[in-house]
Amino acid sequence: MTTGPMNTGPTPRPGILEITPYVGGESSANAKRLIRLASNEGALGTSPAAKAAYEVAAAELHRYPDGGSTALRETIAEIHGLNVDQIVCGAGSDELIALLTRAYAGPGDEVLYSRHGFLMYPLSAMACGATPVAAPEPGLKADVDLVLASVTDRTRIVFIANPNNPTGSYLSTAEIERLHAGLPAHVLLVIDAAYAEYVDAPDYSAGAALAESTTNVVMTRTFSKIYGLSALRLGWAYCPPGIADILNRIRGPFNVSLPAQKAGEAAIRDTDFIERSRAHNEQWRDWTAAALSDLGLKVHPSVCNFLLVDFAGIPGISAEDARIALKDQGILVRQMGAYGLPTCLRIGIGLEDEMRPVIEAMRTVMAGAGQAATG
Ligand SMILES: *Cc1c(COP(=O)(O)O)cnc(C)c1O
Repeated sequence: MTTGPMNTGPTPRPGILEITPYVGGESSANAKRLIRLASNEGALGTSPAAKAAYEVAAAELHRYPDGGSTALRETIAEIHGLNVDQIVCGAGSDELIALLTRAYAGPGDEVLYSRHGFLMYPLSAMACGATPVAAPEPGLKADVDLVLASVTDRTRIVFIANPNNPTGSYLSTAEIERLHAGLPAHVLLVIDAAYAEYVDAPDYSAGAALAESTTNVVMTRTFSKIYGLSALRLGWAYCPPGIADILNRIRGPFNVSLPAQKAGEAAIRDTDFIERSRAHNEQWRDWTAAALSDLGLKVHPSVCNFLLVDFAGIPGISAEDARIALKDQGILVRQMGAYGLPTCLRIGIGLEDEMRPVIEAMRTVMAGAGQAATG
């Protein structure tokens, strides 16, 4: 046994030392040109209007921001047709996920999520001393019946990313309503709609209606994806009034910085940029999926700005081999072992002159796989 400062200093609460810290997508490689497709960031960068608002905010950096993010919440309410008092802003939706977990779960409680759901849910649960419970997900899509079957007396929160990262799948409005209807009223259902803006399916809705008509459903949203503001850390939650009140009690009084508030307001008003981003994503996601399928790879259907590509059954090459081959050319994609999908890679949708090199590199990888298998 090692005895050192770790063992003589303050002891963290139970469970915290069992947390494996979240590792973000890789952002560097030894190559002249980097193609960064490992973190699902917006392909078109940031709206010019949001950048301009960010620069204007530089003049006020010595001032505390508005602790209530009032103008930003009013803008969100106006654009989405929501009630301003039910909106709570956070430093990324990660902060809101952490606050909700801290408010509603602790030691002895269970936090339920779907097996291939977003990793921040079990990590947030463990940080609060709660027990993360993964419902089985055989079809790479959350299964309402299996989630409901995993609810116990100790379940306090159910997290569902809709659509989900990293699978790219979604639950229809009817499926989400059925999930909610099957939960006891004291269980909080968090619908994480980080990719809602990319979804074009008529049977999809992000969850605002349930947050208005129930007392136990929260929808979270982010500015990190289509709005291209990942670096600023900005997200928001749409909550029943009682839950908004709880979040406002426990959040930091100035949890959202002034540049984030100002850039967020401008970004959400730049509907032209959002529309261009959505159209670009649809075109190049479909193009990339078709090209990868043509190479013999299994590509899971995705309504998001990334694709989950499965190498299972490809002779002579693993997902990790492919990831390294891409990285050697400066192309960064995400390995999926932490999500229980070790045979898969997640590839974000970037610009045309980023996606064409991905396909060329993958063509070389697959040609090598064929040779390795036959040679
Ligand atoms: C990217 C992502 C988020 C966004 O997190 P932020 O903290 O807002 O950057 C939330 N949920 C899911 C499922 C995501 O993939």
